[in-house]
Amino acid sequence: LQEFDLNVNKAALIVGGGIAGMNCALSIANQGHTVHLVEKEKELGGVARKIHTTLEGLDVQAYLRDLAQKIYKHPLVHVYHDATITQATGYVGNFVTTVKSDKGVSEIQHGAAVLAIGADLYTPTEYLYGQDERVLTHLELEEKITAGDETVTGAQSMVMIQCVGCRNEERNYCSRLCCSESVKNALLLKEKNPDMDIYVLFRDIRTYGFKEDSYREAASKGVRFIRYEPQDPPVVEPGKAEDGRAVLKVTATDYILNKKLELDADIIALAAAVVPSAATKEVASQFKVTLSPDGFFKEAHVKLRPVEFAADGVYLCGLAHYPKFIQETISQAYGAAGRALTLLSNDIVVASGSVCQVVESKCMGCGACVDAC
Ligand code: SF4
Repeated sequence: LQEFDLNVNKAALIVGGGIAGMNCALSIANQGHTVHLVEKEKELGGVARKIHTTLEGLDVQAYLRDLAQKIYKHPLVHVYHDATITQATGYVGNFVTTVKSDKGVSEIQHGAAVLAIGADLYTPTEYLYGQDERVLTHLELEEKITAGDETVTGAQSMVMIQCVGCRNEERNYCSRLCCSESVKNALLLKEKNPDMDIYVLFRDIRTYGFKEDSYREAASKGVRFIRYEPQDPPVVEPGKAEDGRAVLKVTATDYILNKKLELDADIIALAAAVVPSAATKEVASQFKVTLSPDGFFKEAHVKLRPVEFAADGVYLCGLAHYPKFIQETISQAYGAAGRALTLLSNDIVVASGSVCQVVESKCMGCGACVDAC
């Protein structure tokens, strides 16, 4: 066993320009380190660009604008848009990553890497999504509420269906955000149109922590929560209401009343799952990091090393880890920045490893050791 002193390159590479990536980049740059921020889109912001408010009332778009401005103005942060990583080599303290972007092909040398590539949203194939324009995802609904779209804010009846595309055999996890997203949309709609009938068809309501208060508030304002079982999901069909207007008929079993219910919906909003970004597998293989069974990045130890990978010098934060709220994402981004800075503040790191030595008196030159190595 031998030990090596390795010089540490003082720059950091952040992969992903969403809220996690930007907060992490600023935090590292504010400590005097050069940061290369690599974003696959033309604009910074990630999935948060589709979110307008949080349940707590944060103006997400204003927050994003402010954050992006700080990034662009910071002299130590270099942003690469439209970027893809073509190669990543090296080891702790001395990585070399090749990036193809709007700046051409760049070879970036860096001591640490933070993977914050975000996540995607599931595109539903259920409940007539894509076939009927009255069926939206919860983020599309939020966009329309913010834009003041009359077809949504003036609707008589709205049905929200939870757990679409997850908590099933293919994706056996909870997306954590969608119950709160639906409650938030329901409250926004009740504020604009208190007479609207809003039904939330759920399997479990997971508005954890203080978000539970908003769930109670929605219930007190007349939003009706109806449980359905996975083996008996709601059925959506086009139809006509009693007053003759064209609606979507939603049939579901109410397990408390033990009855089949038929709801007339002008708009249906689906709580579509958060799924790993399409780039996750490729980035994982480039940086030699592991994925969880659900396909998100997997931390080295859930309690002891929650923002690190088993590979030294590579850290993670944000939705690429698992679905989390903006506040949780920001906290984790600071955590990842802290760990990266701990490494970057060293001039050298000590690495140890088993090293082969040839005992010449015993060697017959067969070359087997080379193959084994
Ligand atoms: Fe289902 Fe709610 Fe979990 Fe989303 S947060 S997967 S809607 S239980």
